[in-house]
This record gives sequence, structure tokens and C-alpha cells, in this order.
Amino acid sequence: MNALFLEPVHSPFGGSVAARVLGCPASVGLVQKVPTYLRKSSAYAERGTALHAAMALLLDDNPPALDSLVGLSFNNYTLTRDDVENALRPTSACVDTLLNTPDAEYYSERHVTFPTVAGAFGTADLIVRSGNTGHILDFKFGVAARVLALSPANDDPAVDVINAQLLFYAAAARHSLHEFFAGVDNVTLTILQPQSIEPDAEMMSSVTVTHAELDEFIAGYRAACEEALSPTPRLERGAWCRFCPAKPICPAFAAPLLDLAQLTVPTPPVGPPSKAYLQALAHGLNLVDAVKDLRTALHDQAKRALENGDPVPGYALTAGRAERHWRDDEPTAIAALQRLGLSRDDIIAETMRSVKQIELRAKARGLKIPQEFIGSHRSGVSLARCENVRAPILAPEELVRSFTAALKAL
Ligand code: SF4
Repeated sequence: MNALFLEPVHSPFGGSVAARVLGCPASVGLVQKVPTYLRKSSAYAERGTALHAAMALLLDDNPPALDSLVGLSFNNYTLTRDDVENALRPTSACVDTLLNTPDAEYYSERHVTFPTVAGAFGTADLIVRSGNTGHILDFKFGVAARVLALSPANDDPAVDVINAQLLFYAAAARHSLHEFFAGVDNVTLTILQPQSIEPDAEMMSSVTVTHAELDEFIAGYRAACEEALSPTPRLERGAWCRFCPAKPICPAFAAPLLDLAQLTVPTPPVGPPSKAYLQALAHGLNLVDAVKDLRTALHDQAKRALENGDPVPGYALTAGRAERHWRDDEPTAIAALQRLGLSRDDIIAETMRSVKQIELRAKARGLKIPQEFIGSHRSGVSLARCENVRAPILAPEELVRSFTAALKAL
């Protein structure tokens, strides 16, 4: 098969955007229209970049002690004690388990090129070979969304799809490292995400794929790249929009604004609300949710433009709230405050860490917290989209209805 030629400087078809290219080929052209420096990621991504750099150091031949990483800066981000204990130590412990198998060999932060699409490349966090199994590991240090190796499809929650970024790196690693992958029968794809918005989520998520599945992905990805370069590529909203820098110019993101402007909610009748009224509430919420994403994208790009010295009419950068701190180091400050007449209790508040934080630290030390140590209660009732409901709650009327129905059945 001939290679599809793209002439990239920065690959618009790299591993980190693979899901977006597959879901919305039109995004490739739209993203190219956004000035490069405005596509840069936010402060959260700076933390992720710093943690990735720290993991690369830990996977080096002469790794530093984990504790020595506290206070180390990578670009604009300085690693904290929590970063080390809650992110690096548990990730490093998981990786060590895999690398400590007798015949394991590995590459860390390895540049790999994707077959059949010239100019498509990426950097795999960790590529391991152990016996006849290859492993591709991707570290996720973001907490806002959980990332899985296998997750429900955008259009059909009953069907599971394999993480496109992992498939990209697996196909690219196999292509770039022929000898390393010789004799490998199948490849295990793993996401390691030590912290996420779901407090009880497992840290490791894996799926094993065959060579045939990788070949199928290569063909599908090449087709999506070809479509992206065609005159009428598909434009489609989905989970892949999350980090798309083209949101401010995307027609699919502007559409909810127009719909919102035309939203009419029927006057509620006296008595219980009509079906049409409830439907209008749901429709309005959907539109407002869609617009919220656009607001974030506009805000981030305007901030970046101002940081770059480009004027955004009506907007300016302003210093954050002043955060007070002790001028001296902690022991000196504590001693000075005690000399002033304050007791140690006045100065030091000893608080227990959360269950999740302690579980992470225990895992990194090979310990398990017994379940009988842990209680749980729900903090309240909130509104969520049906597909995101984890513990459904029946309204009092519904409870009465189901109780009456149960009595009748008796
Ligand atoms: S925001 Fe979503 S729909 Fe719009 S171009 Fe990006 S990926 Fe496509």
C-alpha cells in the first residue's frame, strides 16, 4: 500500500488526536485554521506534562529517589508532595511490577511513526515486551475525566470500543520497532490513571489486542486521514470534541447557540407540569450544556492570546487573589509563633487524608486497606443526564406508586 503523504511539521494525525480524527475527520482542517499558539493546552496540561517528564526520569537508567522530585520544576509547573504521593508513586509502583518480570525490556518516551500515513507520529509513554506479549502503556494524570482502555461507543453504549490513542501507539510501535516486536503474539494496551473524578475508580485499565485488530485499525485510521484531506470530510460532535481547539470556529458548536436563541418554553399549566413543559426543560439544559463547552474554549483561547500580547477587545489579564503564606520555612515559622504565646494545637491542624488518597499511598507500598475500615454515605441529591446516573433515586411520588403497585401485586 502506498503511504498517504501529508507534509506535516507538527503531525495533525498524531496519537493524542487519533480518536478525534476518527470521530470527526473535518476537525483536522478546522484545527489547522486556529493559530498554533492558541491551540496550546491549559495549566492542567502543564501539570500532566511535568508528571510525564518526571515518569521519564523515574524510568531512566539512574532514576532519582521519588522524594527528591518534590519541588522540581518542569517548564511552568513545580511538583508538589501530593503530586509525588498521589500520582507518581502509585504509577511508578504499577510500572515496576510489570518491569520487574524477569525478561521484561522496555522503551520509555519513545517516538514512533504510524504506518501508511506519512507524517503521522507520536510519543508512546512506555513500550514493554515480556515473553511473547507486548505492552503499550499510557499515563493519564488528568483528573477531570476517567479514561479507559475499553469504553462504550459514542453512538451505542452497548458496544465497547478500544481506546484509539493506545491502538495508534501499538500500531506505530510495532511498525517502528520491528525486532522488538518479533515473536510478540498479542499486545496489551493499558491506561494508568492514578487519580480521576470517579473516587473509587481502578487505577489500571487494560485490553489485549491481536495483530489482526491492529491491522484493522491501521486501515480504518488511514481511511479517516484520507477523508480528512478530502473536500467534504465528515463533521461530527462526540466525546472526541473535549480537547478540540477548533470549537470556537466549529459549525457544530455554533448550532446550539442558534437553537438556544430560539428556545421557547411553554407557559406551565396550573397543576402538574405538562409533558411539553418538561420536554422544554430538558431541551434547554442540553443546549446550555453544549454552550458551556464553547464558553470554556473561547475563554482559554482569549487568555492565551492576551498572554501572547495580542489584544482581545474588552478583556485584560488580572492578577489572581493574593494568597498569604509564612515567610520562613515551616519549623522556623512554628517556633516563632510558639514564642509569641501560641500553643502547637493553635498552629498545627492534623487532618486525616481521604480514603482514596490513603488507598493510593497504600497501593504504592504494596498494602491493602481492608473494606471494613471504610464506610460510605451520599452527600446529597443532584441532577445528571440519565446515562451518567450511578445511584438512581426515586421521587417520593414514585416511591408511593411502586409501594402501592407492590401491595396490589400481593
Ligand atoms: S469541536 Fe468536535 S465537531 Fe467541531 S471540529 Fe472539533 S471534533 Fe469536530
